[in-house]
Amino acid sequence: MEAKIWARVLAAIEPGVSRPNFATWLKQTELVEHGHGVAVVAVPNLYAKNWIEKHIAGEICQYLSAEGEAITQINLIIRPRADQRPLDELPLLQNNPSDPEPAAETSHLFNPRYTFETFIVGNNNRLAFAASQVVAEKPGEAYNPLFLYGGVGLGKTHLMQAIGNDIQKSSPKKKIIYTSCEIFTSEFIQSLQEKTIDKFKKKYRSVDVFLIDDIQFLVNKEGTQEEFFHTFNILHQANRQIVVTSDRTPKEITKLEDRLTSRLGWGMVADIQPPNLETRTAILQAKAKEKGVEIKPEVMDYVASAITSNVRELEGSLTKLITTAEIEHALITQPFAQKVLKELLSHSLSSGKTSAKSVIKAVANYYNVETSDLLGKNRVKELVYPRHIAMYLLKTKLNYSYPQVGQALGGRDHTTVMHAVNKIIKELKQNSGLEADLAAIQQGLK
Ligand code: ADP
Ligand code: MG
Repeated sequence: MEAKIWARVLAAIEPGVSRPNFATWLKQTELVEHGHGVAVVAVPNLYAKNWIEKHIAGEICQYLSAEGEAITQINLIIRPRADQRPLDELPLLQNNPSDPEPAAETSHLFNPRYTFETFIVGNNNRLAFAASQVVAEKPGEAYNPLFLYGGVGLGKTHLMQAIGNDIQKSSPKKKIIYTSCEIFTSEFIQSLQEKTIDKFKKKYRSVDVFLIDDIQFLVNKEGTQEEFFHTFNILHQANRQIVVTSDRTPKEITKLEDRLTSRLGWGMVADIQPPNLETRTAILQAKAKEKGVEIKPEVMDYVASAITSNVRELEGSLTKLITTAEIEHALITQPFAQKVLKELLSHSLSSGKTSAKSVIKAVANYYNVETSDLLGKNRVKELVYPRHIAMYLLKTKLNYSYPQVGQALGGRDHTTVMHAVNKIIKELKQNSGLEADLAAIQQGLK
C-alpha cells in the first residue's frame, strides 16, 4: 500500500529533478507510513535527509495529499537499506599488527594545490563539488562509489585529489590510494609477470579510500577489468570509499562489462561541465591571486572570453601571459594579451605551430607528472611511460627527427628515442585504449 503510493509520488517528482539528484537523494527512499497529516519517510543517510528537507519536502506533501488525506508534515528518518548495510565477515585487513604494509604509502602522490579551497565552484561543477566534499567528510558512508565525469581539463583530478588531501588531513591513519587507470593497469600486468599478484591484490584491497582516475582506459583491458571488478566488490562491501573519474558516464564507456557498468552507477554519478564566462573569470581571478599577480579586469574579461574549452587551458594562458610579460618586461594590457594568446589559440598539433614544449607539457599534465621529471633522469615507470608517449608524439605528429626528439626531452640519445617510438607503435596495435589517451592528450593541446 505505502510502497505503491510512494512509487506514484516519486514518479510525479522525478521529471522535475535532475537525474543524478533523483538517483542520489530520492530513489532509495521509502514511505514508512502516513496519516493524521504526517508522513514518515525513510532515507538512506543524513545527506539525503537534508537535501529532501531543503528542496522537495513541500512537493512531497502536495503529492501525498493528492493521494487522499492531507499531509502537512514530513518526518524523515535515516535508515540504510538492508542491502547497503556493512557485512561483518569481511577479510579485511588494515590495523592488523601482522600486516607489514606501511600505511599511507602513496600519500605523497597528492598535489597539495588540489584542495577544495582552491577549487572554484560554479553551476557547471556544483553537484560534483558538493558530492566530493560529502565523501571527504564521511568516506564510505554517503555515496559509494562517487563517479565524477567530464571533459578534459575540467577539474576531475583536482576534485579527486582534494578528497584525498582532505581525508588525509582529517584522518592521517586512513590508507588512501590515488592511482590512474593507466598505473593500475601497468602495476597489474607487472605483478603478473613478476608473480607478485598477491602483493598487488593486498595493496589495493586493503585501502580505506580508493581513488582511481580516468577509468575509461579500462576499455579493452579485460584482465585488468576483472581485477578491478573484484577490488571494487571487496572494497564496496566493506564500505570503503571508492571514487572514480572518467571522461564520460558509466554507460557511455562502451565495451566495459555490464556488471562493471552497473556497479559504477551504484552511488552518485556527478558531471562536470565546461565553466561559463562568469565561472571562467572567477577561476582566472583566483589563479592570478594564487600567483600573486594583479591583472586588469579588462584583461581578465578578454582571456575568459577567448579561452572557452577548459580550465587547464585557461590556467595555461594565464601562466603564459605572466611569464611572457616578465621576459619582455611588458605590462599586461589587453593588446598584449591579445598578441600572446593569438599564438596559443592557433596552436594545434597539425598546424605546425605547436612547440615540443607544449606537447611535453600536455603529456605531463595528462599523466599528472611534472614536466621537469619527464625531462629528467629518473626511470621509474610512472615517468618512463609518459616520456615514451611524448617521444612518440614529437616524432609522429610534429615530424621531429630522432635526434631532435632526444634533444627536446632533456638530451637523450637518438637510439633511445627510436626504441621508445617503436614501443609505442607496437603498443598501439594491441591496446586501443592508448589511442584514446593520445587523442585526449592532443585535445589538451588545443
Ligand atoms: P581533468 O582531470 O578533468 O582533466 P584537472 O583536474 O587536471 O582536469 O584540472 C586541470 C587544471 O585546471 C588543474 O590545474 C586544476 O587545478 C584546474 N581546475 C579545473 N577546474 C577548476 C576549478 N573549478 N577551480 C580551480 N581550478 C580548476
Ligand atoms: Mg585528470
